[in-house]
Amino acid sequence: MMPSLATIAEEARLAARAVIEYGEGLFHPTLRLGVTGLSGSGKTVFITALVHNLLHGGRLPVFEALDSGRIARARLEPQPDDAVPRFDYENHVNALLGERLWPHSTRQISELRLAIDYQSARGSARTRTLTLDIVDYPGEWLLDLPLLETSYAEWSAEAIKLSRLAPRAGLARDWHAHLATLDAEAPENEQEALTAARLFTEYLRACRGDRYAMSLLPPGRFLMPGDLAGSPALTFAPLETASESAPPSGSLAAMMARRFEAYKDVVVRPFFREHFARLDRQIVLVDALASLNAGPAAVADLQRALAAILACFRAGRRSLLSNLFRPRIDRILFAATKADHLHHTSHDRLERILARMTERAIARAKFSGASVDVVAIAAVRATREARVTRGRETLPSIIGTPVAGESAGGETFDGTSEIAVFPGDLPEKPESLLAPGFAAQPVADASEADYRFIRFRPPQVERTGSAGDSGPTLPHIRLDRALQFLLGDKLA
Ligand code: GDP
Repeated sequence: MMPSLATIAEEARLAARAVIEYGEGLFHPTLRLGVTGLSGSGKTVFITALVHNLLHGGRLPVFEALDSGRIARARLEPQPDDAVPRFDYENHVNALLGERLWPHSTRQISELRLAIDYQSARGSARTRTLTLDIVDYPGEWLLDLPLLETSYAEWSAEAIKLSRLAPRAGLARDWHAHLATLDAEAPENEQEALTAARLFTEYLRACRGDRYAMSLLPPGRFLMPGDLAGSPALTFAPLETASESAPPSGSLAAMMARRFEAYKDVVVRPFFREHFARLDRQIVLVDALASLNAGPAAVADLQRALAAILACFRAGRRSLLSNLFRPRIDRILFAATKADHLHHTSHDRLERILARMTERAIARAKFSGASVDVVAIAAVRATREARVTRGRETLPSIIGTPVAGESAGGETFDGTSEIAVFPGDLPEKPESLLAPGFAAQPVADASEADYRFIRFRPPQVERTGSAGDSGPTLPHIRLDRALQFLLGDKLA
């Protein structure tokens, strides 16, 4: 395909911006770190914990620059991009530390700028500053990239085909019933479009729920609309269309196709151009435990989503897309979150399972380019460990305070009392969970199943340091390893 004039102009603009940013980067080294993951994967908690640990010098032994004392201080700076909301760090940290409540989750893109003053490891006495721009955005938005190369008819056919497979089919019943009443060639009708979009969105939302924990559910803004909720660019849905040929003008299909194209133009392209293409590093948070708990279909779906996410990061000049949005990202970290729901004996296993999933995703996405690593973390550790004796057995357990209103085993918790839970072990060999068509194999046995979804309150933290800026430290699991991979070389 010949690049259009608009595409060439776009490329020139991006190239000019890259040159300017490169020049600025020589004098003021800046790193743009993208933090993404599907809703509920732990983005808000991760960023809040990361910033808090850097501002207050948390316990991060593997994060060499901090551990060796080379980081003099880190401070928040004014948010640089006028059109992007600031990440609400102060409120989030107050919720976590003050009220022991989890902060409000990511609903749209936001940014936070941190300046880190450090001494080079090479012994120069001069203090340097690394500016770290953290960009928080919903992973759902990344899964829209393939739409740019898809026509409305192709997308419709694929979405309908996928919705006829288990377990999606059961959840799509209401939408399918409405779909069957629609005639693609009938005159366009706003009410029908609204109803179709609403039922289609409800189906996507049901797929995403804990029980099914599906991951691959484009278009991303249907679940994470940001500030676009209710706009026409989001008021479309698949239709059974007979052919690829252009639908008659004025028809329902023509209206849907027009909105699908608008979605690409006003939503998908600007996001990749304005935000994604400017990232230097990326962490992708994955609630792998939720998928493992939901069973094989959810795990398979998660692997497809990981491959789709990786495809966004593929460098190369082959397609028009990669010319326009070629990311400059050189390191990607996949992090399985909420590892504090497992006993530490299973942390390495969780890491191995995610590593196997990403290996497959790398193969499927034919990914080569940035270096990829995998880690199992808890950005905020809400539990501690104990061994609990049950009959003649001693079981490795975790202890935490369930969030008020959570219930398990017929009991509803009040948010103040602690319980000990045996979380079950992950299998030693990831293959047993990832084999094609493996039998449903919950993480814990059925008698424990109720406890697998329990949400614990954030931990009670003690004020440690005596005075000054040494605030309370938030406990975590392997957050330091994540930071070392993402930032270590930039602070060398
Ligand atoms: P987001 O949608 O990606 O921004 O997800 P959040 O960061 O808001 O996290 C969603 C929920 O997951 C939180 O409300 C917590 O209940 C839980 N969560 C996230 N991170 C952790 C963690 O490190 N440990 C525990 N125990 N729960 C977590």
